[in-house]
Amino acid sequence: MRTIIEPFRIKMTEALPMTTRARRAERLAAAHYNLFLLDADDVTIDLLTDSGTGAMSDRQWAAMMQGDESYAGSRSWRRFEATVRDITGFTHIFPTHQGRAAERILAATRLKPSDIVPNNSHFDTTRANIEYVGGRAIDLPSPKSRDIHSDERFKGDMDLGALARLIEREGARAIPFCMITATNNAGGGQPVSLRNMREAKALLAAHGIPLVLDACRFAENAYFIQQWEEGQAERPLLDIAREMFSLCDGATMSAKKDGLANIGGFLACNDDRWAEEFRNLLILTEGFPTYGGLAGRDLEAIAVGLMEALEEEYQRYRHATVDYLASRLIARGVPIVRPAGGHAVFLDAAGFCPHLSPADFPGVGLVDALYLEGGVRGVELGSVMFGRRETDGTETPAPRELVRLAFPRRVYTQSHFDYVIETIETVFADRAAIPPYRILWQAPFLRHFTARFAPG
Ligand SMILES: *Cc1c(COP(=O)(O)O)cnc(C)c1O
Repeated sequence: MRTIIEPFRIKMTEALPMTTRARRAERLAAAHYNLFLLDADDVTIDLLTDSGTGAMSDRQWAAMMQGDESYAGSRSWRRFEATVRDITGFTHIFPTHQGRAAERILAATRLKPSDIVPNNSHFDTTRANIEYVGGRAIDLPSPKSRDIHSDERFKGDMDLGALARLIEREGARAIPFCMITATNNAGGGQPVSLRNMREAKALLAAHGIPLVLDACRFAENAYFIQQWEEGQAERPLLDIAREMFSLCDGATMSAKKDGLANIGGFLACNDDRWAEEFRNLLILTEGFPTYGGLAGRDLEAIAVGLMEALEEEYQRYRHATVDYLASRLIARGVPIVRPAGGHAVFLDAAGFCPHLSPADFPGVGLVDALYLEGGVRGVELGSVMFGRRETDGTETPAPRELVRLAFPRRVYTQSHFDYVIETIETVFADRAAIPPYRILWQAPFLRHFTARFAPG
């Protein structure tokens, strides 16, 4: 069959908020033209993030009913631990309330001021947790990732030449651990190849530097490896995932992504001394090590979700959905980051709005236009999020002006995406009408969440 269908049918429905253009115009102005400030009830198709926004399966809901809420040593913890160990092989496993809690414990216990942590690209919470304890988070993305319009594979790879030079220059002792983020969220959801991970591990091992996987989208990454990498086509996703983890000495995970759950995460490692320190801090800030800030029912949902994320049918459908949107936008001449990533389509707002400069915040103009036209919510990843206002009031723009349309897992169907395509098509036809935006007010940090804008 040519058509890849959703490998599930729908047992429960949730009404989509339907709004009029007049209502959206009014809500947009009331939200100061910042889509983070909208009520979700005013959004028809919400592509703001794929984090914690997925739909759980009947098997997950059934497992939740079996949640054992005992404080210590619960059955649900045993089930969670057994599943995470089956996939990752790690000796020590700690549940956390989200991915960033795992990052915080890792950074606080392993780093001292001025220590360096290389990564293909740090996610913003990873960077913030490293910098919070005085560390230096260094991005070493592959040179392949520079051209956003090229269809090269594995643009999420780490630049191993740059890693070798960094170790040479700074010395291994300045690098308590190295990270790899798979898929590379900050880099457009692009995957990391098994070959790149193997070579990174060999290089790091020669210098005694441990490797920690930021595993948030490990299953989506495993699917890319199976589809693209030589000699991997016949391997089950679980097998590929096991090899990815076996190359690492530890992992941080947000179960809100490939855990197919609405909350949760974990931290894992093999080293007993690391584990001792993780455990002590975990008890202080997350909870007892057999629940780590989660309810027993959450542990159950995650245990089922992690295995569902590794089902071939599910990943084939998920990647087909992203490809469906991407290929139709490419056919209509809409500029996007290529190839399509695992969890999102990134529109090139600068290419979309050639009449606007970075100082006009074209990404804001584009997300606002998509909302006004169809009630579709995306997120700006451009000069508002990554640019900076200097003390003299001038703006330093970001290197790219992107808009991310993230795909909640198992939530929207093909006709929803047809509607999104139509919305983008209509906005694209009238793109010259997208106005410039100014920032009227902004917070000193992470300004994108709360900034107030005005058109014109
Ligand atoms: C979401 C994410 C995190 C942080 O996880 P939270 O559960 O949101 O705290 C870390 N790294 C990557 C790559 C992510 O996508």
